[in-house]
Amino acid sequence: MKEKTEHHNELRIPKEDTCYVRIYPDPVLSKESAPVKNIDGKIKEVIDRMAEVMYVNKGIGLAAPQVGISKQIIIVDIGNGLRALINPEIVEGEGESSLEEGCLSLPNIEVLVKRKQKVLVRAWDVDGKEVNWEVFDFPGRVYQHEIDHLNGILITHHISRLKRELLIKKMLKELKHLKKKGYPL
Ligand SMILES: [Zn+2]
Repeated sequence: MKEKTEHHNELRIPKEDTCYVRIYPDPVLSKESAPVKNIDGKIKEVIDRMAEVMYVNKGIGLAAPQVGISKQIIIVDIGNGLRALINPEIVEGEGESSLEEGCLSLPNIEVLVKRKQKVLVRAWDVDGKEVNWEVFDFPGRVYQHEIDHLNGILITHHISRLKRELLIKKMLKELKHLKKKGYPL
């Protein structure tokens, strides 16, 4: 997830052999991610690379499919340190709140998304320990956004089809210059 106050088109052009943010309509973004079976050094490596991509692009949350890895891993840093969760799921949710959200995979798009105000997230941490976190308000929203990615759901799924098509058309038009600069779209 991307903070609403960020300016447009801040995606960094990736150097060769580094992972980079996958932009819609990259098919990896619409797929359901596979659960992680073993939390090993390889998973830690994926998390490190995800963190690098997230920080370089000033994101506050990132899901593995956004760097082309279809695995159930998310990272979040809302200013209080990096949290990585493996196989996360929302087991409970209550209340409702609406707020505009942006997403690194959908540059220049911001949409009002209705989410649960409070959720219980169950997951595993990098040490393989089960965690059950109750998260509220904005942090709760970020976790819901990232877990949506693992199910192939983007913020544009939360609006009408007509509005979605219009926004995406506009986004792709604006992205043409990124492509010209060498972004692998
Ligand atoms: Zn996102």
